[in-house]
Amino acid sequence: MKDLIRFPATKTLICKRCGEPFEMSRPFRKTRTLCSLKCIAPVLYRLAAKSIVSETGCWLWQGFLQNHGHAKIFVGSRRMEWIHRVSWEIFKGPIPDDLCVLHNCIGTGMCWNPHHLRLGTQFDNNQDRVKQGREGNRKGEINGRAVLTEEQVRFIRSNYSRNSRDGLNQNTLAKMFGVDQGTISGVILGKTWTHL
Ligand SMILES: [Zn+2]
Ligand SMILES: [Zn+2]
Repeated sequence: MKDLIRFPATKTLICKRCGEPFEMSRPFRKTRTLCSLKCIAPVLYRLAAKSIVSETGCWLWQGFLQNHGHAKIFVGSRRMEWIHRVSWEIFKGPIPDDLCVLHNCIGTGMCWNPHHLRLGTQFDNNQDRVKQGREGNRKGEINGRAVLTEEQVRFIRSNYSRNSRDGLNQNTLAKMFGVDQGTISGVILGKTWTHL
């Protein structure tokens, strides 16, 4: 009779902030970025210090955004991580290798409220992108190069503020939804989407 393959009970990972090794218990196909509270706390502090809470309960990151409206934060001196992934790890636990962290809210990549996040496959991720209207074809979206959905237009109008401490400015909103600033200003001024 063959011996059963015995796996060790833990796996050693390297903390991306302090560089120290730490133990991760089974199952193995999971990743984790930060070792313990001593490394989690400062990252969480930086996230909170640069975020605002929207009317819809989103915790919206106000720092630098990547072009498609997602955000990264430095966790170590040279290591950057997606903020929604960091949030998931802090509040919910390790992320399985084959899964993505997805948003339930329209705040897209800027929101890191763990209640607005869920795990899903790459397929779910692509489905979300379609649903969020990049390829949508509903009323109002047919006009010119408009790529916003009605839901996004409502979000823009209720969260816009000239002062970025009170809300989201035009530049941020443009990045968030992958459109140019003129599109955002048209929505805010009511030049477009007049039926909403
Ligand atoms: Zn650490
Ligand atoms: Zn949210």
